[in-house]
Amino acid sequence: METELRIEAYVDRYSDLKQRAMRVREQVIRMSGKGGCFLGASLSCADLLTYLYSALLRIDPESLDDPARDYLLLSKGHAVPALYGVLAECGFLQASRLENHLSLHDCIYWHPNRSVPGVEFHSGSLGHVLSVGIGIAIDIKLRGGRNKVFVILGDGELNEGSIWEACLVAASRKLDNLVAIIDRNGFQANVRTEDLVTLDPLAEKFEAFGWACGEIDGHSFRQMDGIFNALPFAAGQPSAVVANTVRGKGVPSLQDRADRWFVDATDEQVALLIAELHEFDEASVGDMACSRQDQSRW
Ligand SMILES: [Mg+2]
Repeated sequence: METELRIEAYVDRYSDLKQRAMRVREQVIRMSGKGGCFLGASLSCADLLTYLYSALLRIDPESLDDPARDYLLLSKGHAVPALYGVLAECGFLQASRLENHLSLHDCIYWHPNRSVPGVEFHSGSLGHVLSVGIGIAIDIKLRGGRNKVFVILGDGELNEGSIWEACLVAASRKLDNLVAIIDRNGFQANVRTEDLVTLDPLAEKFEAFGWACGEIDGHSFRQMDGIFNALPFAAGQPSAVVANTVRGKGVPSLQDRADRWFVDATDEQVALLIAELHEFDEASVGDMACSRQDQSRW
């Protein structure tokens, strides 16, 4: 009986996370109708951001300046509609404000802006923010804090040499309070990553740079529970999570397509995309398990 109750609790929890992620995806799609946005990259990390803000990060709208808070930095800044959608879902800002996307009278824009509650750092110019995370992580260590710094990187972003310079520094400073999450959706702009600059085997590369690394399905809340509750993976080492995701996840007509990285949708197209999102959701089972591959390490 106790085991059955525990399973039911997990099912309810994952169902709640899935519903939250669904509302975030709806917001992202609506923003694509307000002048366009990088829809595919936003949808690939929507589940990760939903999980982190809903189930892991020690931060809430009332503790934005608390030095003991966890930090999340979205280095792949073009996916900011997913971040704004999650911040609205979690009460950091009014959801109605998302309707101001690209308005001259607001800073809800194509890249993260610190003027928006919950955004820790400006980003968009790729390859820089892991170094920002290192600075925050060192400051936390110097103050004797126990909080963590999470940096979400795009896989295409890993072509920036500054990322690997930062990896060397993070390992040499033994920053086990630093976590890099790689949104491994297999694309950068309108090209598959492996057709431009080969990244695989990715986990082994981070390990060679002195990081402890794990790999998950970036759409499985169950696997997120497993891996993020195991942080840090090794004392004295920064942690990297390779999250295998699908670009455009949740909307079949957008999924895994090179030509759907930026979408400027009409009102009619927005309605169709949201309808497709719900239709696909009703046909799917589980916690939006990723179709690309079964990552069973977690
Ligand atoms: Mg990518």
